[in-house]
Amino acid sequence: MPSGPPAARRQLVSLVVAAVVAAGLFLVLWALLSSSLALSVRGSISVLGLVVAGALATASTAIRARWSTGGRRRAWRLLSLAGLTALVGNVLAALLGDPESVGSSPVGDAAIAVALLLSIASLTWFTQVNRSRVDLAVMALDGVILGTAVLMIAASLVYDQLLASGGSVSLLAGTVIPILDVVLATVALILLRRTRGPDRVALGLVAAGFIVYTMTDLGYAVRIAAGTFDFGSVLDLGWIGGYLLLALAAWWPTRVTDVSREDGVAGAEDWDTAVVFGVLLVATMVEVIGDGPGRLLSIEALLWLVLIGGAGVRQGLIARDNRHLRQSLEDQVRERTADLRQMGRETEVLLSSVADGIYGVDLEGRVTFVNPSGAEMLGYATGGLAGMVAHDVFHAPDAEGRPFPFDACYIEEAVRSRVVTNGEEDLYVRADGDVFPVEITASPLVDDDTGEVRGGVVVFRDVTSRREVERVKNEFLSVVSHELRTPLTSIRGSLGLLSGGVLGALPEQAASMVDRALVSSERLTRMINDILDLERIESGNLALEVQPHDVDELLAIADREMSGLAASRDVRLVRSTGCPGLVLADHDRIVQSLTNLIGNAIKFSAPGSVVELDARLVGDDVEMRVRDRGRGIPADRLETIFERFVQVDSSDMRQEGGSGLGLAICRGIVERHGGRVWLESEVDVGTTAHLSLRAAPTPGVDAVPAAGGATAGGPSAPSA
Ligand code: ADP
Repeated sequence: MPSGPPAARRQLVSLVVAAVVAAGLFLVLWALLSSSLALSVRGSISVLGLVVAGALATASTAIRARWSTGGRRRAWRLLSLAGLTALVGNVLAALLGDPESVGSSPVGDAAIAVALLLSIASLTWFTQVNRSRVDLAVMALDGVILGTAVLMIAASLVYDQLLASGGSVSLLAGTVIPILDVVLATVALILLRRTRGPDRVALGLVAAGFIVYTMTDLGYAVRIAAGTFDFGSVLDLGWIGGYLLLALAAWWPTRVTDVSREDGVAGAEDWDTAVVFGVLLVATMVEVIGDGPGRLLSIEALLWLVLIGGAGVRQGLIARDNRHLRQSLEDQVRERTADLRQMGRETEVLLSSVADGIYGVDLEGRVTFVNPSGAEMLGYATGGLAGMVAHDVFHAPDAEGRPFPFDACYIEEAVRSRVVTNGEEDLYVRADGDVFPVEITASPLVDDDTGEVRGGVVVFRDVTSRREVERVKNEFLSVVSHELRTPLTSIRGSLGLLSGGVLGALPEQAASMVDRALVSSERLTRMINDILDLERIESGNLALEVQPHDVDELLAIADREMSGLAASRDVRLVRSTGCPGLVLADHDRIVQSLTNLIGNAIKFSAPGSVVELDARLVGDDVEMRVRDRGRGIPADRLETIFERFVQVDSSDMRQEGGSGLGLAICRGIVERHGGRVWLESEVDVGTTAHLSLRAAPTPGVDAVPAAGGATAGGPSAPSA
């Protein structure tokens, strides 16, 4: 385990100490090596300096490896190993031979060669960051060009002399080490160019150390070849300086121990191009100049320079252009990312601050997200529902305990059929098994670009308290109604008696007042009965006596009951007969429903118009219809008027004496029968009320499905 970098202050103190020690050592050695001491003494001092500096570099890089992690840790370790190898080689050579043989003995040379290889490997670890393939290829090509160019320079300046020395220089010292030096310098140069981020200075020092070392090696090779090398000269300071630079690099303060990503390299292309072509240009110049003093400014030489220089400038311009392009793209991406982040934050605040539960599902109905309110209502932690199938986990089974079919679930409908379900009531199960009523809105989640459905979003609201309030309200209404009924009956009875003249003839004004009071008390009684009926229906206490009844007969009774009202309004009731069906129904309740529908048809028809009644078989059902040619109902009210106390126009209550309860009761009764009641209407044309009940088996009559077929003689039945 790495021990982690020490605190910043301690790092700084260590660096200062290391720098002072390195500078001190360097200056002392410089003074000694450039002094007039005997060569053998200076040689020993050099060896000692090399060993001390090498030991410092080895120890420092080993310590740095301990702080670091990942690729950087490996790089520092390799570097430390390289230092150790070179050091061991130097010591062995010093022990095996006389001090002057250090660096030129086979053991020393081999150790240096291995140390160089280890250093190259170490540098490649320093550059271990994720790069694109193209970037890697460019880096490799840069390396090839730089390396070749440096080799060209070296070949011109050094190798001629090395080769000219014949066999006096070993293969290692004369060829392998200089080539390895060139490779190391090239890699170090590229590393320096390519590295950004917090460790840049440290890596710069490493690269500088190698470059100094390499240059000294080359100088050494040249001198060896020329036979002018003496160990103990100022040249040795190059190796010592290289070691010291490596040691310093290891002590450079660091904020991070590993770099997985190099920071922005804006402008890197310009520099890369300049470095690559600059070195190429120098190589060309050296080649050209190397051809001899007479050809220094020859046309050919000039053309070469123009060629390389032109290509370099061109490449530089392209690189600059690319940089601008990339910069603007990066700016755009940064802006969009900031926008997206802002949007994400807003959405998050929105989702977490609403009181309603909101969850999203994928195409399989699995929860993809749920807001905090939703998770809390369902009794889960916010992330606890992710990945679960919403329908299986919290969709409550039906009243009989059967699982609700997934195909009929609004989540499935939203995803499959893109149906938006609004205001549907449902039951959800909490994590602890509690069932609670909810009102939901489910919408499909459609991809704007492709138009494909990606999933769905469901918004739900716990309506337990609303249901409770409604229950208390209904209970209150029913209690009050019950309590009102008895005194009202006696008021109505008394008024009836008064109006009937039991106490003698009343004065005209008093008689009319009593009549109005009687009408009002009857209306109030009707309303109270309606409220009580509704309460019975909604609480499930409406007792039904279901038996097969003849449809024609039911219509006839309703017709008879409403004939008085029809006559008073000058409306003609026309009834078709001959419907073959029997229906399973509570006689009085269905007649009550029919009279309400017929009453509405009469009330909202103009005098002189006709209200038609008929019935027909539709599949297994019998459909009774009441059709008027009255004022009609706007399409958006066709459903709402089935709610309690809802009327199309507030004046309907005053003018027609209704309360807005009739249709609610009618639907309650019919639905308790398992049937359906609905309206179709066109404003100013008329309304058709449909009441559909399950047909009872008719003995001796085949119930032929007759969708839309009128079954009656008499006036043709309008088809709805
Ligand atoms: P009420 O008739 O007692 O007001 P209903 O629930 O029976 O209560 O009817 C509710 C409202 O629906 C009526 O007040 C009226 O506005 C409208 N309505 C019902 N039937 C018709 C119809 N056939 N034509 C026009 N409007 C109608």
